Amino acid sequence: MIELFRVRGIPVRIDAGWFVIFGLVTWSLASGYFPNVLPARSTASYWLHGALAAVLLFASVFLHELSHALAALDQDVPVGGITLHVFGGVSQLDAEPPTPRAEMLIAIVGPLTSFAIAGLCLALDRLLDGSAAFHAVASYLVVINLMVGVFNLVPGFPLDGGRILRAALWWWSGHLEHATRVASRCGTGVALVLIALGALRVLTGDLVGGVWLVLVGLFLQQAARSSWEVMRVRARLERLRVEDIMTQAPLVADMVAPLAEAGIALGAEKVVRPRDSAWTAFLKLGRTRGGRVAVVDGQALVGVVTQRDLQAALATNGAGPTDLARRAA
Ligand SMILES: [Zn+2]
Repeated sequence: MIELFRVRGIPVRIDAGWFVIFGLVTWSLASGYFPNVLPARSTASYWLHGALAAVLLFASVFLHELSHALAALDQDVPVGGITLHVFGGVSQLDAEPPTPRAEMLIAIVGPLTSFAIAGLCLALDRLLDGSAAFHAVASYLVVINLMVGVFNLVPGFPLDGGRILRAALWWWSGHLEHATRVASRCGTGVALVLIALGALRVLTGDLVGGVWLVLVGLFLQQAARSSWEVMRVRARLERLRVEDIMTQAPLVADMVAPLAEAGIALGAEKVVRPRDSAWTAFLKLGRTRGGRVAVVDGQALVGVVTQRDLQAALATNGAGPTDLARRAA
């Protein structure tokens, strides 16, 4: 994972797999699309146009994700980062939106941004009346952004359409967990349809397109399942304090003293406070290599939280999130 830059404090990263998809998109544009629409040019010119169009495609995907992230910040939902990966991109939200309305707004701005980019490219293409190459790149961006917008509106969680569905169910039923379960099941359903369509395309001779659809389907299925699981873990951990689950300092002082110093020196990334929610520790642990975060009260190290502490907390609080909610109420 490489961090490129930050926007309003949000780290923007690219996954190693992204380079693969960037190469594949460039290759397919340079060997298929551009030779078709711009005949009789050099191979180098096709590759140059392919790379340029691919960069603009991923810039579009980035703007789509950025709109989600900024809308989330606007709704007071913390954003862990934006990652571009092999299947596109993701804006990682570190908390559930507070209301169905917030969820709806955060979800809908993504496809709207893609449609706006498509509209802008179409307008520029018409107004500027540029060269054939300009027209070819602009037309590609119009089509691809329309496709990104439409695909993301498919109502399967965690796609944007699935989030809109979840917001509607949440608003209608008043239960976020129930809404998430139904929307995730729709996500799994959409994933299975994609896998079936992909298999069909493979059988009818479109090997590359078919395999790609199957992979997207598998990715979506995995995402639907893990969003549901993360939701359950979050529901449990958000109700626990770091001080309830940590390993206390006297037991671990020798082991962690250097870590605490390093953690304090490094700032907030590796340090939690005793009154923070256990979910905060879970998130920070996920981003730390050492496998533990320091618990610091004022300037004093009072404990650490490890993977094992979190697992133990999840096991002993094995009652479902609804039970915990009832107990908390
Ligand atoms: Zn989106």
